[in-house]
Amino acid sequence: MPDNTLPLYQHWPRLAESIPYEPIATLPTPVRKLEGLSRDTGTELYIKDDSHTGPLYGGNKVRKLGFLLPAAKLAGAKTVLTFGAAGSNHATATAIYAKEMGLNAVSMLVPQPVAHSVRRNLLRSHEAGASLNHFNGLNQVALGTAWQFAALRAKEGAFPHVIPTGGSSPTGILGFVNAALELKAQVDAGEIPMPDVVYVASGTMGTAVGLALGAQLARMPWRVQAVRVTVERFTNMQRGRKLFEATNAMLQACDSSIPTVHFPDDFEVRHDFLGEQYALYTPEAVEAMRRIHEAEGIKLEGTYTGKALACLLADVQAGKLAGKRVVFWNTYNGVDISTAIDHTDYHMLPAAFHRYFEEPVQPLDQ
Ligand SMILES: *Cc1c(COP(=O)(O)O)cnc(C)c1O
Repeated sequence: MPDNTLPLYQHWPRLAESIPYEPIATLPTPVRKLEGLSRDTGTELYIKDDSHTGPLYGGNKVRKLGFLLPAAKLAGAKTVLTFGAAGSNHATATAIYAKEMGLNAVSMLVPQPVAHSVRRNLLRSHEAGASLNHFNGLNQVALGTAWQFAALRAKEGAFPHVIPTGGSSPTGILGFVNAALELKAQVDAGEIPMPDVVYVASGTMGTAVGLALGAQLARMPWRVQAVRVTVERFTNMQRGRKLFEATNAMLQACDSSIPTVHFPDDFEVRHDFLGEQYALYTPEAVEAMRRIHEAEGIKLEGTYTGKALACLLADVQAGKLAGKRVVFWNTYNGVDISTAIDHTDYHMLPAAFHRYFEEPVQPLDQ
């Protein structure tokens, strides 16, 4: 059922007629000033905290899945199939909430550096009943996907519904168009002043693009600072512009009163905080994690949010944020999943995943 309290539907009620939404996310998420870190840095810093977007698992993917999973249901799917790295938060969130909605989940995963969070996510996905598949490279993923299509067609009478990596299709991005409108409502209500810039980690860009599109549509002045944490193929200006325009077009197709807006000139992708590779922690990220934990008691991680905060803190240091109001968008799950995986042993996973439990975690995650 469409949830008419969503800011997206409040702005454009006609969208509720054609775009299904399932309120799996607990919204709005809190926003507040980071008092300690603001004092330490001499800059007005705020947090938009998506760590508890859902009761079973939080983080940014839950907002996207609120649109993606009902779209899969509407299409008549029994199974959703998605992609990611072995420790993908997106794949885990998809497995958990697909199950809640009566859908099967298939995860097509590729290698990544070992971390504690990779182990937890794999166990949690298994616990949710997802089919976990490991591939060494994209050619193998393509072959494996073709095989899954044939096998599921034979078994269930239908092809699986594909959700792209990170959930960053126009449908998924609606979750962050809505999030931008949600932040606007919080600013309008006086919870925080209007921000000048929003810092966010960027993997497949859906989060950053949705925030930029929502801001343009609602005439919000904030600039989106996307901090790239993965290969450039997934996060670059051209891809950002394409996703922005495709999502704008999809909204217009559903409600012709929605204007065409332009990909903002001041949207910026930062490439200098990735470090050596995706999911390999950097000393700067670990230091940023330490600082926010010490000042605010907030726990981040080294793959996404630590790197994004490291960029923000470096920009403070360089004097780039003097006099600015800065929002740090926390995209990381903060729900403790340890009890859910208490009784799951990694030997129950397909053998290809055992190495994530048998090899040591990367040095900066110890
Ligand atoms: C997936 C993810 C991101 C990146 O979101 P995109 O929309 O793919 O850019 C950022 N932070 C965390 C913790 C994530 O899991």
